[in-house]
Amino acid sequence: MAIQSTVSFEELIEECNDAIATIDFADAQAWKNEGHTQALIGCFPVYTPVELFHAAGALPVGLTGAGNKIEISHADSRFQSFICSIIKSTLELAMIGNLDAFDGFVFHSICDPARNLASVFARTMNTKQVEYIHFPQRIPSYEAVVYLEAEYRRILAWACTLTGRSVTDEDLRRSIALYDAVRSAIGLLYDVRRNEPHKLSTLELYALVRYGHVAPPEKHLRILEHALEYVRARGGTPKDRARVVVVGSFCEQPPMDLIASIEQAGCYVVDDDFLLGRRFFTGGIADTGNPLYDLADAYVHGSVDSSVKHDLGHSKALSLVQRARDHRADAVVVLTAKFCEPALFDYVLYRKALQEAHMPHVFLEFEEKMWLFDKIKTELETFVESLLFS
Ligand code: SF4
Repeated sequence: MAIQSTVSFEELIEECNDAIATIDFADAQAWKNEGHTQALIGCFPVYTPVELFHAAGALPVGLTGAGNKIEISHADSRFQSFICSIIKSTLELAMIGNLDAFDGFVFHSICDPARNLASVFARTMNTKQVEYIHFPQRIPSYEAVVYLEAEYRRILAWACTLTGRSVTDEDLRRSIALYDAVRSAIGLLYDVRRNEPHKLSTLELYALVRYGHVAPPEKHLRILEHALEYVRARGGTPKDRARVVVVGSFCEQPPMDLIASIEQAGCYVVDDDFLLGRRFFTGGIADTGNPLYDLADAYVHGSVDSSVKHDLGHSKALSLVQRARDHRADAVVVLTAKFCEPALFDYVLYRKALQEAHMPHVFLEFEEKMWLFDKIKTELETFVESLLFS
């Protein structure tokens, strides 16, 4: 989409919402049919080094489950019932043919269900290529970067077999610079929301970021830059609301109506970990002359905290407390997908650290197929009242 100066911010958000609401990946298919890309690669959360695929001439497409848009009719037969929704809905999408246009899929070593999903996918989609990135499990280890560089080299070679292209260091540098620009634009939008949350709602920000899951990065960047111009010029005054940091939704995504409920209950979300893989780094990627090494080094030494990254070098719980303070938050909302073990394990540590720091918090669970939000909204309203009137 060429962005016209006459397009309003509301139309921009509507365009993003329309694109992310569909589960048939029609835009990505069209992009491929028009010859803009040689292959579509589905990327399971949380983080994927999408630069490798982009440089190889493929379009990396984020897999974020199916929300409440499909009935799980086939995937139940492959997995136990006590498992998070995104695993089943992603498999269901594959089994009903919605992922047929994809050429390959990438999964990661983030948790047992995701590991198993990779294997089930390989059997179910046996005409497609399925790969698996083993991220280092001991981040402080001396060999972690070198190991991950080799892993990225292997994955890049795989992507090149899908597209029939070879990749130079210059191609990689260009893709890294492009995605760095996307991350930087997202970071600036997050800054606006943190400093002036009345100018940009979390629902709007969420739609803008998630659009990048289904659109080429070149197009995504234009949308983000355009949105940034709008929100910076937006007026309005802040309301008397509780400033909260939301954590725990780094993989499976909460229904958008649930995100809306947090705001409607009287909160300004001033930081969150929704769609975390799209802004996984704390700064830009360095350029030391070896782009694969630089990308691996950024994962090991320059990435944000996540429940699926095992960095024993510091306390994620204490970092969360500090993050809440840095964002001048009144409280933390721990919002986790049902049955998400990495999030639930971390919650034990978060709760202790938040209590010791006298930082109020509330714990909530969600699943993709939630329809009713009144109960959760009432719970949040009561929590917000206790913050504002205590
Ligand atoms: S939501 Fe949690 S348990 Fe489910 S795939 Fe993601 S990290 Fe794993």
